Amino acid sequence: MVRYICRQCGRALGQFAGDWREPRLGLTRLEPEDQDDLLEMNEAGDVVWVKILCEECLPVPWDDDLWYN
Ligand SMILES: [Zn+2]
Repeated sequence: MVRYICRQCGRALGQFAGDWREPRLGLTRLEPEDQDDLLEMNEAGDVVWVKILCEECLPVPWDDDLWYN
C-alpha cells in the first residue's frame, strides 16, 4: 500500500493498493537521498507514505523541476 500525503498540510492526496516498488510509480528510480526525504515506511514495511506537496502548498504552479523540492 502506498499513500500519498502532502508533507506541508498533511492532506491525503491518493493511494495505490500495491507495492511501492511497482515500476509504474517510479519511486525506485529516485536517488537514495530523495527516497530518504520522500518515503516513509511503517515497521512492517507494507505501507509507504510518499510525502509530496499538494497544489495548494506548492510554491509555484506546477513545475517539474520544483515539485518535490
Ligand atoms: Zn498541502
